[in-house]
Amino acid sequence: MLPDTICKTVRQHSRGKVPPEDMEKLQEIAEAYRKVKNYVYQRYGGIKSLAKIYPGYTVQNEMTDSGLRTQLGLPSVYFYLAIFDALGDIKAQWSQVKNSMLKSIRENEGFMPEDRHYLRFVMRAGSLFEAVLCNSRRELPKEMQGQYKALCTGVDRKRLDRYLCRQVRRKLRRLHTEKSGGFAIAERAYRYADHGIYISTMEKRRRVFVPLTDENTYKKQLYIKLFPEKSSIEIDIPVEARVRRNKEFEAVIGLSVGMWQLFTSDTGRIYGEQFGCLRQELETFISRGNRAYAKEKRNNPGRQKYKAGKDRLEAGLHTYINQEINRMLQAEKPRTVYIPRFPQSSPKGAKGKVNYSVTLWQKGYVRKRLRQKCLEKGIELAEVFGNNISRECSRCGSMGAYEKDTFRCSACGYEDDKKRNAAINVKRRGQSGQCIGREFMPYGSK
Ligand SMILES: [Zn+2]
Repeated sequence: MLPDTICKTVRQHSRGKVPPEDMEKLQEIAEAYRKVKNYVYQRYGGIKSLAKIYPGYTVQNEMTDSGLRTQLGLPSVYFYLAIFDALGDIKAQWSQVKNSMLKSIRENEGFMPEDRHYLRFVMRAGSLFEAVLCNSRRELPKEMQGQYKALCTGVDRKRLDRYLCRQVRRKLRRLHTEKSGGFAIAERAYRYADHGIYISTMEKRRRVFVPLTDENTYKKQLYIKLFPEKSSIEIDIPVEARVRRNKEFEAVIGLSVGMWQLFTSDTGRIYGEQFGCLRQELETFISRGNRAYAKEKRNNPGRQKYKAGKDRLEAGLHTYINQEINRMLQAEKPRTVYIPRFPQSSPKGAKGKVNYSVTLWQKGYVRKRLRQKCLEKGIELAEVFGNNISRECSRCGSMGAYEKDTFRCSACGYEDDKKRNAAINVKRRGQSGQCIGREFMPYGSK
């Protein structure tokens, strides 16, 4: 089933410059908020606290008793949000650790199938996993005891338990944040009025007023981001948006995604022709900036001009990407979009070391935006395996070769634009079910 609503982040911006004394008051909150988060990371980020973080009331109560709130002078309306913010990060970190462990278990050739069954069972039975990690008494609900006993026979339980402990110790990082760039805010700590927003501060009954560029008002938890160097703030609001499905969108398309031309469709249409130029302009600017910075490091040059230039180019590039994604969807009217996925290449082996991270990051941005826009319009987006996708002949399936932009197949004589040939392969792989992941099923599951 396709979802009817999706999560979106709406943003609001301050109008004019936020005066330094007001910015300072907001930064005070962000700083105390950061300290609370670090305290929670420190105290509850480890193995011994695993039992406490779900659902988190124990943490909340212990934090109330800790005296930290009074010590920092942070109003409770911010204090508890900071705690849950940090707890969310800790939970996310645990699920990352578990995913990575499941992968290691799958790939470890030293394990027998029964070893893997045992390990997975322990990891999924919450309290059992904690008991193994803390080396404490194992208590299981009655209905699981039989299964557990069966799984324990024929395996070296001690060895496997030690394996789990070792893996967790290796993979669990201590969380810590140096940034105090913002804070979450609950409804009772702000009020929209006078074309702006009043925000509670650390001082009782003192509010900071920030004029906003729009008149929208919300009644939910917001996140305030601070940009002191620009004297501005941004408000992030999570909203549920209805999916706007268009009945005319019926096509099934394959796209090849490029670093010069953003998309080429299986019918040979090109979108985002300027993408490569704009991207290169940004990358050149960044590498020049880095070189100049390295040279003059000692003189401690202000980086503000560089940052402003970089932000401007990046914003331009992103606007362009969004426009071209919209244009592509409007023109193609797809019900399903297939795109290729390639294995992650290691940054070390790549040419042009300096720019590589930028390139990688822009690729991620394109995918993120395409995904979001497909979700908003109820379009299915699926990734297909990308190996050899440019070398395979889309007519006969033999391995051909390409030179510059042209693909040639020596087996059947087929010749085409390289990107289009790839896009046809993408579509074919998608339609024959060689997909890695689907965002959701096509409607009616036809
Ligand atoms: Zn061929």
